[in-house]
Amino acid sequence: MEITFVRVTDNTARFYLSGAWPSFANTVRREMISGVPTLAIEDIRIYDNTSVLFDEMLAHRLGLIPLRTDLSTHVPKDQCSCEGAGCPACTATYTLSVEGPRMVTSRDLIPQDSAAGPVDENIPIVKLNEDQKVVIEAKAHLATGKAHAKWQATTACGYKNYPVISIDEHCDGCGMCVEECPRGVLGTEGGKAVVLPGHLEDCSLCKLCERACLSASIGTEYSIRVNPDPTRFIFTVEGDGSLPVLGVLSTAVENIRKKATDLETILSDVSGRETK
Ligand code: SF4
Ligand code: SF4
Ligand SMILES: [Zn+2]
Repeated sequence: MEITFVRVTDNTARFYLSGAWPSFANTVRREMISGVPTLAIEDIRIYDNTSVLFDEMLAHRLGLIPLRTDLSTHVPKDQCSCEGAGCPACTATYTLSVEGPRMVTSRDLIPQDSAAGPVDENIPIVKLNEDQKVVIEAKAHLATGKAHAKWQATTACGYKNYPVISIDEHCDGCGMCVEECPRGVLGTEGGKAVVLPGHLEDCSLCKLCERACLSASIGTEYSIRVNPDPTRFIFTVEGDGSLPVLGVLSTAVENIRKKATDLETILSDVSGRETK
């Protein structure tokens, strides 16, 4: 099994997973979405709220603000030595105090630990009019997307099979498949259809070209066939900025490895007991 990166930035990545099977590719996707912990606001104390939003709405909006997360310094509450009471190792504290008239944004959310501040400072929270005020204390802790979507480190995470396009010798270059392809993958050259250089990965496997070829030909034979490679996948991942996307992938892979090792241990325990 092999992972090859095509493009990586802090918040996006595109990579190939080769030599894998569909269930494993889906496991990687699911683990990146719901198995990687991030910080999100969970507990809120509202001292004053005369804005147009109910307290619950305000709390909901604050919970959805992505926060910079350092997995080497924060631990989940249930694994912390404070036993869930809340200490700097498991809890990040914020204050927000704004008087109108003006827009309250994530910039106004002041973290006690500057390394755990909001990812983006311009996320609108609520617009205050004259004489309106919001005073809040908030606490964030680590959890995963399994508990709530606000703890998801990825905003988009998906894959598709690598396309395999074959064009046989019966192709007469009529160009019907080229006209039909919505992704501009195909062209003609030397009286035959061809995959345009650098466009193969744009193919969505919709098979419209096959249908066009069939309607253009006499009989029931396709000259073009499009199939998914069952062992190769193109992943596209977008993060919310709380963690670098590469960190999301490596944590997800590490989680899968740990789960597999745990399962192996359990199975060997069970089989050991059975053979006794
Ligand atoms: S399967 Fe769809 S996207 Fe791919 S080459 Fe055919 S028409 Fe184009
Ligand atoms: S529609 Fe079929 S015959 Fe026509 S160019 Fe495409 S592959 Fe060739
Ligand atoms: Zn703690």
